Amino acid sequence: MRVLLVGGGGREHALALGLVADPAVSALVAAPGNPGIASVAELRTVTATDPAAVAALAVETAADLVVIGPEAPLVAGVADAVRAKGIAVFGPSAEAARLEGSKAFAKDVMTAANVPTARAYVCTDEESTARALDEFGAPYVVKDDGLAAGKGVVVTDDRSAALAHAAECGRVVVEEFLDGPEVSLFVVTDGEAALPLLPAQDFKRVGDGDTGPNTGGMGAYAPLPWAPPGLVDEVMRDVVHPTLAELRRRGAPFAGLLYVGLAMTAAGPRVIEFNARFGDPETQVVLALLETPLGGLLHAAATGTLAEHPPLRWRDGAAVTVVLAAQGYPAAPRTGDVITGADRPGIIHAGTALRAGDGALVSAGGRVLCGTATGVDLAAARDAAYALVDGVELAGSQHRTDIAAAAVEGRITIPG
Ligand code: AMP
Repeated sequence: MRVLLVGGGGREHALALGLVADPAVSALVAAPGNPGIASVAELRTVTATDPAAVAALAVETAADLVVIGPEAPLVAGVADAVRAKGIAVFGPSAEAARLEGSKAFAKDVMTAANVPTARAYVCTDEESTARALDEFGAPYVVKDDGLAAGKGVVVTDDRSAALAHAAECGRVVVEEFLDGPEVSLFVVTDGEAALPLLPAQDFKRVGDGDTGPNTGGMGAYAPLPWAPPGLVDEVMRDVVHPTLAELRRRGAPFAGLLYVGLAMTAAGPRVIEFNARFGDPETQVVLALLETPLGGLLHAAATGTLAEHPPLRWRDGAAVTVVLAAQGYPAAPRTGDVITGADRPGIIHAGTALRAGDGALVSAGGRVLCGTATGVDLAAARDAAYALVDGVELAGSQHRTDIAAAAVEGRITIPG
């Protein structure tokens, strides 16, 4: 099977490693890829959000399967354009990807499917925003309706900051604050059959102790030793299958990766958000533990044959990933700094590039790379991931020092 992988971040590097480890994958082309992905795939340049360009590249590279990593190409209709060429694609249609592309659409689907989530209002002016904020009270949660790379959400006790964010975004979803630890559950689906992957947890805030602004994600671990038994079955029953059924009913079946972001509240799991693709950096840890060949799994989802796919197999132990971010991330990341010590197994490239002229590896984005490691347990995986990150030098870089720490120390509790 020849695979074309679209994207060029840490998630795609992790997907690339998983794909090339599958004996059924005979060739991997990545577009645009990154210097880390280049060690396992042929790189091609493409505008990932240009449906016609990606479809043409899929034809040119004789791809049997196209795997779309990021959300922007999905929302732009890249999966539709590839499917129209008769090529199997892992990733939902533009219509189904609205589950991530519009928070208001996601809320509408959840309401129709009776999915447990935060109560919310869609607001487009100051008056309705203020009314919604006052109804729910602090902490205030204000979400940009459109795609914002994980940075469109403000959670604050400061009412004027909440109003200011709403004014900046235009159209927002204001919702009640959900109190409880968060879970990311990835579900591979062909629109009807659905296979959950291992639940993971990511770290959205830039600073230790969940301080500072939201980011794309600063680290992750899996599995979750504190997750209640039966959690995954409950979420499949109450969230995933009703949502997939509602999207089929609307004529927009969702085939690809349904990412369910949950808060474990006193009243039970509540959906915080849906994404239409693998999460970054949770993918790094979930795929590090997946023993089932990745190419075959994604191909089954892309071809409507997931019901016949064998049950997933997982490695024992745990995985942790720690993101090394550029100075100034997330507000104004500095790029172009030289990176040394990154040439080791377990280092996953996210925002890196080769400098023109001397070919030195340099930072090229906010999240630069991550150290991903497995271990016999979470503590061992955590130590190994930090050892990887500590071996990398990047001027001004920052990383959290508490990824997976609370889980290792048994400090995570579900309210109630
Ligand atoms: P989202 O883009 O919707 O995932 O939001 C980003 C982050 O903001 C989430 O991972 C949560 O940490 C936080 N967040 C979003 N919605 C809520 C909510 N209703 N209550 C509490 N925290 C939230």
